[in-house]
Amino acid sequence: MPRAKAPCPCGSGQVFKKCCRPVLDYLSHRPQPFELVDSDPDEALRQGRAAFTRYTIWHATNTVPWFEDDPEGAADLTRIDTEALGGHLDRLRLLQQEHPDHPPFGPVLDRAIGLIDSDRWRASIIRERVMDALGNGGEAKARHILAALDLDQINDTELLGLCLSFREDLSGGRRLRLVDRIVTETRDWEERVRLLTYRGLLWELHGDDAEGAAAYRDAVSAVPEDPAPEWAHVAIIGAHLHAGRTAEREDLVQRGLDLCERFLQEALPGTPLEVDLRKSRAEAYKRLARFEEEVEDFRWVVAARGTNDDRIQLAQGLIAAGAFEEARQELEDINYDDLTDGERYDHTFAEFGLLYGLEDPAVLNRVRLRLEGLDPEFPLWREIRSRFLLGLASRPEPMTSGWWSTFREALMLQPNFLGFGLDLGKLLGLQAKGAHTEEDTHLRLATSKKLKGDT
Ligand SMILES: [Zn+2]
Repeated sequence: MPRAKAPCPCGSGQVFKKCCRPVLDYLSHRPQPFELVDSDPDEALRQGRAAFTRYTIWHATNTVPWFEDDPEGAADLTRIDTEALGGHLDRLRLLQQEHPDHPPFGPVLDRAIGLIDSDRWRASIIRERVMDALGNGGEAKARHILAALDLDQINDTELLGLCLSFREDLSGGRRLRLVDRIVTETRDWEERVRLLTYRGLLWELHGDDAEGAAAYRDAVSAVPEDPAPEWAHVAIIGAHLHAGRTAEREDLVQRGLDLCERFLQEALPGTPLEVDLRKSRAEAYKRLARFEEEVEDFRWVVAARGTNDDRIQLAQGLIAAGAFEEARQELEDINYDDLTDGERYDHTFAEFGLLYGLEDPAVLNRVRLRLEGLDPEFPLWREIRSRFLLGLASRPEPMTSGWWSTFREALMLQPNFLGFGLDLGKLLGLQAKGAHTEEDTHLRLATSKKLKGDT
């Protein structure tokens, strides 16, 4: 136990006696502070802090003395403690954000950094800084922190995942190597599924469909027999839907849809999970060419949440269903300047899709101007961009109907043919991953002990 007047390990800035000490006496074995957030936010934060403090005491009294007898075993335990404390810290950040006064989280991290002397722990602190910045709308700040990191020095797979999401300086090859590192190092199957799916997408964007298909199949294989934790559902369906695109495994799309229906039955109405699952189901319908149902789900998602990515996806669905005017309206209502780079591609290619049904020089010119302004990172995008710009090079005045049909043939424009795999914005959304449960941490501890016993 820390001394009564020592600073509390939770990083609140108060002394232990007046902060977590009294809470520890009544804190349950497995506290659920989030259940109290609405009714008693102060108590929720107190319990979240105390849970963090209790684990720091556990680390100090169990892991630290172990170093004397068994430095290697203790190093292994330190890794587990770091992950567990990282999980607690993650919850503490969320609890602070739920708190009406919303105290700044930076000082908590500053006080916590000396808690464990390991690179892994320092990486956890950096990760929390990034998440804190993102949670407070400071995406530029988050990018700034991540840009300063030397990726070769970092082993925290979640932090590496954040770099994948927010470091635009990484080349495709660098990304692939990073993905391989995370897949090899992570002990989290859900992260593996998500990353292998992303790997498949990267290969496709580099024009290698065979490698892409192999990665998608690996992602499906990485899903356990009975995937229980609900935060993994969306990743599982994503893996199936992508793998199902490879011609020889179309049945996987149907399996993805079946899983989606099952998870939707289990999901609580009104939760973000339900919205994500409805969106996943829309994507399954898209791949099964059930466009009316796809549009219906996307409309629901836009009404419930309506991020720019959701709205672009709805527009793409409308194009596939032949509702070009409504799709145009949806796209024009989105402020292009607000979009991320990935979303700009999706938006531009959706407008591109409008040209299949609309003979509108204004849309054509807008798409051309945007494509000229975008600097494509991936070969697939480069190819589409050059084909489009080439098609425009021979533009006669005025544009006749005959010109439009030749133009479409030249581009091999088909409804929604860009609707697959270009929703980078969503796939890059690794940061949206749910918090791990404490149970998960205990499970890892048990597994690690068992492995140690076997050797
Ligand atoms: Zn405390």
